[in-house]
Amino acid sequence: MFFVKNEKGEYICARCGCGGKITKDHFIPKSCGMTVNEEGNYVGICEKCNREKGDDIVLPSWYSFLPRGQQEELRRYLRYARSYVLQKCKDEEVEKYLREMKRE
Ligand SMILES: [Zn+2]
Repeated sequence: MFFVKNEKGEYICARCGCGGKITKDHFIPKSCGMTVNEEGNYVGICEKCNREKGDDIVLPSWYSFLPRGQQEELRRYLRYARSYVLQKCKDEEVEKYLREMKRE
C-alpha cells in the first residue's frame, strides 16, 4: 500500500498533495479484471482525484512533488503493476496501459 504523509505525519493525497479525505485507489485498473485486493495494488489519493482519474492508470508524473525516497518507492509499485498487467490482462488492456505509460 502506497500512502504519502506530510511533514506533520498526516496523510495527504499522493496525486495532488491535498489533505482531503483519502481513499484507496488501484495501481492496476479494475477494468483489467483485477479482483485481488492485494496490498501492493493500493495507492492513497483524495476523493476528488479518484473521481477525476476514473479508470486511468497511475502515472509517475502525478507524483513529481514527492520526496526522492518516496518516488523510488512509487516506482517499485509501478514496476509491479506493469508486470502484472503484461502477464495477466487482456490484450486491449495491455495496449492501453503501455500507451498511457508512453505518454510520460
Ligand atoms: Zn488529490
